[in-house]
Amino acid sequence: MASPEPKDKSYQRRTSPHSPPLRIIIVGAGLGGCAAAAALHHHGHEVVAVLDKVRAFNRLGDSLGLGENAYKLLARWGCSIKEIQEIGNQAPTMRIRRWHDGKVLAEQPLMDMAGYIGHRGDYHDIFLKWVRERGIPIRMGCEVVAYSDAAAPTPSLTLATGEVLTADVIVACDGIKSLARHLVLGAQDDPVSSGYACFRAYFEPSADMRADPARNAFLGEDSVNFWIGPDTHVVQNTLRGGREFNWILTHKDDGDVPESWFQPGDMDEVRRLVADIDPAIREAIKSTDKCLDWKICYRKPLPTWVSPESHRIVLLGDSCHAHLPTSAQGASQACESAGVLAVCLGLVARDEIRIGTRAYEKLRFPRTRVSQTHGEDLRDRWHNVLKNVDGDIEIDPEMVKIKNRPLYAFDAEQDAVDNWDEVSRKVREEFTKGEIEPLCN
Ligand SMILES: Cc1cc2nc3c(=O)[nH]c(=O)nc-3n(C[C@H](O)[C@H](O)[C@H](O)COP(=O)(O)OP(=O)(O)OC[C@H]3O[C@@H](n4cnc5c(N)ncnc54)[C@H](O)[C@@H]3O)c2cc1C
Repeated sequence: MASPEPKDKSYQRRTSPHSPPLRIIIVGAGLGGCAAAAALHHHGHEVVAVLDKVRAFNRLGDSLGLGENAYKLLARWGCSIKEIQEIGNQAPTMRIRRWHDGKVLAEQPLMDMAGYIGHRGDYHDIFLKWVRERGIPIRMGCEVVAYSDAAAPTPSLTLATGEVLTADVIVACDGIKSLARHLVLGAQDDPVSSGYACFRAYFEPSADMRADPARNAFLGEDSVNFWIGPDTHVVQNTLRGGREFNWILTHKDDGDVPESWFQPGDMDEVRRLVADIDPAIREAIKSTDKCLDWKICYRKPLPTWVSPESHRIVLLGDSCHAHLPTSAQGASQACESAGVLAVCLGLVARDEIRIGTRAYEKLRFPRTRVSQTHGEDLRDRWHNVLKNVDGDIEIDPEMVKIKNRPLYAFDAEQDAVDNWDEVSRKVREEFTKGEIEPLCN
């Protein structure tokens, strides 16, 4: 039987400022949806249900990072982040290497990129457990097929079964292919190709591989390495305490890779692309049986994250701020958004929910743009720094270092409180004028 509160005795859930508490439905039980459930629960709101269309979660994806900016919020919400840290990669540093010979161009603490890197599926299991520990129902096999944005009495959603559910607020954490985004935008938005795709593989190295000096150079202990070259890079790291091995090869994409997490990759093409990479990693990649091919799709920044009529259906996570893999901040920014939404909904009266949701998008948009552009900047620096230079030229380490650390000091919830007066005043003015200013053009 799930207990309604986390076990940590020092944890204190906040009392709802509303009586009765706001009833909230979350669509999507990915990391974003689970973070939203934990945050809203902590701030005293009633999370009626988290809905997900899949019947069961598989261990999907591979390496994912969670930064300190997310940890501090999760800990505040009563989540035991030790559970995440224990299963994350424990390497103290990561090495950024030259493509053709593996020369270390820069070495920096792992924390500079993304805190502890772990398997997305393993982290997801822990997030789901946190939600269940709070007594919040996760309803699997519930596909949302339509939303109604009626301002009165409340917005609603319809499941594939025909069941209609209503709530004071609906939070759509339904991922990069979000259905809710179409409602919010009032139009279909097409994915934008980033110009790159990734071949990715993770597997348990065989005894043969472990014993083979041509393939085992990075298997002895937890490790994180990057090989950078013109228009390409490889990420390698170990997962589950070194028992699993992950490599990701980013390559130019001519636009014909479908937007999918499950597209099989062509290992012959991989072998061609890594033919001239550092021999220390080459054979480990070339001898891999199979991989996936992920198109790195992007969405243009959205002019709004909130539904136009009720202002009570809101987007959160990849549905409104997807990140490039090089940002290593997709899940962390979803956690930040979760905290800010929960804070904003706690600062408004029941009849002013729309002030809270519109303040939420205004507070979050600039912050997520900074973190998204960090990922673009890093990719561009890595892919260009060795172009048109002599193979042995010395590279200033600063040119290739990962510069995510400044993102960590930020406390998203505190920032929302600090800026509340100014932002909520602006939102009120916009409602008075009858014109909501778009987040971007
Ligand atoms: C399969 C997969 C693998 C990934 N692998 C990696 C990785 O290896 N490394 C990395 O950095 N990032 C990865 N990501 C991205 C990363 O998980 C996200 O950036 C981050 O966790 C925030 O995601 P989210 O919760 O907003 O969306 P998502 O993780 O996409 O979750 C959205 C959820 O909404 C559900 N959903 C969608 N539509 C509906 C609907 N109509 N009705 C009900 N439910 C719905 C989906 O089933 C899904 O569970 C992956 C994402 C996915 C989906």
